[in-house]
Amino acid sequence: MNHNFIATPSYTKQIIKRYAFAFKKSLGQNFLIDVNILENIIRHSGITKDSGVIEIGPGIGALTEQLAIHAERVMALEIDQRLLPILDETLNEYNNVSIVHDDVLKANLHELIQSHFRPGQDIHIVANLPYYITTPILMKLLHENLPIENITVMIQKEVADRMAAKPNTKSYGSLSLAIQYYTIADVVMQVPKTVFMPQPNVESSILRLTMREKAPVHVEDEEFFFSVMKACFAQRRKTILNNLTAFFKPTLQKGKIVQLLSEVDIDATRRGESLTMQEFAAIGNIFYSYVQDDKK
Ligand code: SAM
Repeated sequence: MNHNFIATPSYTKQIIKRYAFAFKKSLGQNFLIDVNILENIIRHSGITKDSGVIEIGPGIGALTEQLAIHAERVMALEIDQRLLPILDETLNEYNNVSIVHDDVLKANLHELIQSHFRPGQDIHIVANLPYYITTPILMKLLHENLPIENITVMIQKEVADRMAAKPNTKSYGSLSLAIQYYTIADVVMQVPKTVFMPQPNVESSILRLTMREKAPVHVEDEEFFFSVMKACFAQRRKTILNNLTAFFKPTLQKGKIVQLLSEVDIDATRRGESLTMQEFAAIGNIFYSYVQDDKK
């Protein structure tokens, strides 16, 4: 009965025409027109009839409809006011969906979760994200310590690859570590451009981020850890010694940096892309304790 769903080329065209809706590139509006892809997103998200789902950017409701069918409750945040009357019509028969007119980057998600879902409910975030703000959205979701199981999102393939990358690969960098500190990241599927209307210029993938119960490494100070880790990638082709020397200038000299690295068994001539999360934690912690002691 796929022809009854919102996510078909014919229904999408019909709605767009009837409402004289003009896609806004600046809002990353590429709507899904393929139910099979949506079923894959749903399957990988692990939602059940007991789940609460937060969707970011429902568009005309293609994914929202499938979420409404598979979950208990759906709360979707849409920034574009022009889509609200459309969603009223397309999702009319689903009484378990609430549309919130808000910018996800500004919304108070803790409050929205409290007002839309049962206490202790199994909550998932599922979305075909607006690509122009993929990273800020995901970093906000991870930093806010939300009571969620996982995040399953359609994003630009290249960004998904970077987020899920392992050491010693071209895509590995500070974004991989920032994401994997909070989650277990898996690229679950690559998606052709043909499933979108209009088609985006870039390739897409479905990325699943499973929230970790606790951080995979112990770090003395998260802010310090992340800034030292980022510094190690400041100039990718350079050794960590050169990158850290530039970062700690003028407080720490090269010799001291080599000595601190050797205390945690790390060769100063290595490059950031070869270091694991555990090694970055060891580097962050040894420099942190040295800098703290130095202040005393
Ligand atoms: N979920 C729909 C689908 O798959 O067909 C639409 C996905 S489209 C890639 C991204 C959606 O996010 C658009 O509806 C756009 O208006 C919305 N959007 C863009 N920026 C947003 C923001 N800051 N907050 C909430 N929604 C936003």
